[in-house]
Amino acid sequence: MDVTPNDMPNVTTATELHLDNWFVRDLEGMYEPWTATVASAPRLLVLNRALATELGIDAEWLASPDGVATLVGNAVPAGATPVAQAYSGHQFGGFSPRLGDGRALLLGELLGPEGERRDLHLKGSGRTPFARGGDGKAAVGPMLREYLMGEAMHSLGIPTTRALAVVATGDPVVRDTVLPGAVLARVAASHLPVGTFQYAAAHLDTATVRRVADHAIARHYPHVAAAANPYLALLEAVVRAQAELVARWMLVGFIHGVMNTDNTTISGETIDYGPCAFMDAYDPATVFSSIDHGGRYAFGTQPQVVQWNLARLAETLLPLVHEQSDQAVELALEALRRFPADFDEVWSAGMRAKLGLAHPADDGQLVNDLFVLLHAQQIDHTTFFRLLSSAASGDAQPVRSLFDDPGAFESWSAAWTDRLHQERRPSAEVAAGMNLVNPVYIPRNHLVEEALDAASTHDDLAPLRRLLDAITQPFTERPGFEAFAEPAPASFGRHQTFCGT
Ligand code: AMP
Ligand code: MG
Repeated sequence: MDVTPNDMPNVTTATELHLDNWFVRDLEGMYEPWTATVASAPRLLVLNRALATELGIDAEWLASPDGVATLVGNAVPAGATPVAQAYSGHQFGGFSPRLGDGRALLLGELLGPEGERRDLHLKGSGRTPFARGGDGKAAVGPMLREYLMGEAMHSLGIPTTRALAVVATGDPVVRDTVLPGAVLARVAASHLPVGTFQYAAAHLDTATVRRVADHAIARHYPHVAAAANPYLALLEAVVRAQAELVARWMLVGFIHGVMNTDNTTISGETIDYGPCAFMDAYDPATVFSSIDHGGRYAFGTQPQVVQWNLARLAETLLPLVHEQSDQAVELALEALRRFPADFDEVWSAGMRAKLGLAHPADDGQLVNDLFVLLHAQQIDHTTFFRLLSSAASGDAQPVRSLFDDPGAFESWSAAWTDRLHQERRPSAEVAAGMNLVNPVYIPRNHLVEEALDAASTHDDLAPLRRLLDAITQPFTERPGFEAFAEPAPASFGRHQTFCGT
């Protein structure tokens, strides 16, 4: 398949949206200027009005024909220089030197009232010079899935890119079957994965790696510019941000599913919701992705995998960290070794909050025993923690009833209750605090599939809207939403997810 000749300007220029292009000005060599393939019959499927308001963009304008044309890539915002970004990536451990945006474009950067800079990016907008064998397209289902999962993560307080809109293109996408096509417009702190550094190191030179690093520092970690060794301090900051991110995933049972280095951000945001899913019954070996045969990206291996990805970042920074390579390696290793402690700090504090404990203590045994128990009896991760709050306020029956062997729960519960009593906090306060961190509604796999199927096959967006309604207030139990808190029926079977669709 040939790349469409790209010297034809797109149909209109949108003047309502003003974008900066710092990435383009700063990082020549790290992108290809490009424009979207024109969508034949754009139709807005979902618009994130809350996000538009947060960004200071008029949602009514976004929903207008000009707005939709911009969101699908048919119109280019004033001053924008759309580019396909170049990056490399270790995919399932193997190095692909030239990945890049094969079906995506960075339109430019939105500037908020306080000067906050956020990328506006399109996914599914046609083939680019990085498309390799791909068709450059995206189907409605997976783009709605990214919208939904991103909003769920954001509502849970977890750093993430967010969808601004999904627009159906009116054009078909050929996968196993013919599917309706869509473009996702997403907003991110930046699109700088570890793979960006790998691309500069593999194809360009140390001066370019330095430019990329300086850009990342100025954009995300301006305080490290003043450090004695700014590039080492950058590495430490990214180690910290990623350790915190993955700890937060683990606390809610989220499995990214494809944590390649091109999906590991310098900003510490979750990105690229492909084969991701929330775990049901607790099992560290849980894998949903149909292509993850070895379980490389299983739930329980995520901290190790992120650490491995950070080591790939460290390799690219070595020449900037110290002129003597053995010294550089020593310093970088020291930064990487901080990961477990950084992770543990966030994980332990988060776990204490989930268990209703306010004060740090040596709770390692209590937490480990709990996960052995949840694993052995295949207890639903989300439901367990949510129901535990009633146990804190004196009614253990709901949570106890989850266990086939309640005896094992009773003995863990006795230790937990002792620990709670040591803190002497009013039980109502403990339970209320637990309900602020243990969600009642997550995007459960069977409901996600149902909603995406209705949208993609029957053009019915009602189930998606209702699911969005549930998961955007994940901690507030509401009448009428009972079904959203239920685990999948047995008939749903083993869930599988697919990536790159
Ligand atoms: P992702 O799974 O979205 O993180 O994509 C991984 C890599 O594959 C990136 O370089 C994408 O641009 C590329 N890619 C995925 N799907 C397609 C497609 N349909 N056409 C072109 N490139 C694609
Ligand atoms: Mg990606």
